[in-house]
Amino acid sequence: MATANPAAVAHPGIVRLDPISLRTKRLSALSTMTLPLIGTAAATWFLFTGNFTATDIWLFAGMYFVHMFGITVGFHRYLAHKAFKSGPVFEAIMMITASMGAQGPVMWWVTTHRRHHRFSDQEGDPHSPNLHGRTFKQRMHGLWYAHMPWMLSDENSKWSVFAPDVLRDRRLMYFHRTYFTWVASGVILPGLIGLAVEQTWMSFVTGVAFGGLARIFLANQAAWMVGSVCHAIGGRPFENEDKSANNWPVALLTFGEGLQNNHHAFPGSYRHGVTWREPDLSGWIIAGLGKIGVVRELREPTKEQIQKKRDQAAAMAGAGRSATTRTE
Ligand SMILES: [Zn+2]
Ligand SMILES: [Zn+2]
Repeated sequence: MATANPAAVAHPGIVRLDPISLRTKRLSALSTMTLPLIGTAAATWFLFTGNFTATDIWLFAGMYFVHMFGITVGFHRYLAHKAFKSGPVFEAIMMITASMGAQGPVMWWVTTHRRHHRFSDQEGDPHSPNLHGRTFKQRMHGLWYAHMPWMLSDENSKWSVFAPDVLRDRRLMYFHRTYFTWVASGVILPGLIGLAVEQTWMSFVTGVAFGGLARIFLANQAAWMVGSVCHAIGGRPFENEDKSANNWPVALLTFGEGLQNNHHAFPGSYRHGVTWREPDLSGWIIAGLGKIGVVRELREPTKEQIQKKRDQAAAMAGAGRSATTRTE
């Protein structure tokens, strides 16, 4: 498994980790990848042997929603992009549910993500599938690297460079420090709900397997496709100078995050669907929460800004076509 980022670049915000920090990072990343896999194997076994109840299926679905809501609304659109504002109670709900997604603590997530936008598909991007060569085999390797092994690389994004605002916020740093408590809570909680509903110890075990570990594994496979598949396969209505693409199947699974081309065109927008018919569940949820006053100051591009970007893309496509015609 490749562990050095081939897209590494000299930049004051990118640091090489010392051996102890590197070991801690890799241990944490490997646990995130392997422990949920064991739980998924157990859940599959329970599924095929009939040792589960409807409660387990509801726990999986409910916790998948909580997980994806936290990551996409909380960590991504609220924290990394400041696409809307919120009070402390709803902010706490977002940070706790996002941490339950087991994608790393607050500072790691936000600095990695802002760096992805800073260097998108260029040297320095922590998880681009497009910097590994042009042959079919190299492209497949790039897709795989951008999906999971990038988390094991020996570099880190400097907090003071990519997220000084979060670093100064004591409330947000509390959720960074208590990350593992929330990950564990997200695994145990569905077990306790299963136990309360079904009243058997076995229902605690299956609740943990379905709503805790299998949920983390499957939801994160979908989430990591945003960094791999959605920078390789899909539509590109906007010209972003990167390979970000709108991939509807991934967008459906990730509550709108798969609309990467739209998102890279308007990264500060609370919604990733430029039109309401594009699948962007998190955008619809934030809009609804805005209507009832739970969140406020929702940022989105104006119709004119969207049209301008569309015109730019059309002009670039036209220039590309005439250049091709001239060389023929
Ligand atoms: Zn992206
Ligand atoms: Zn983003």
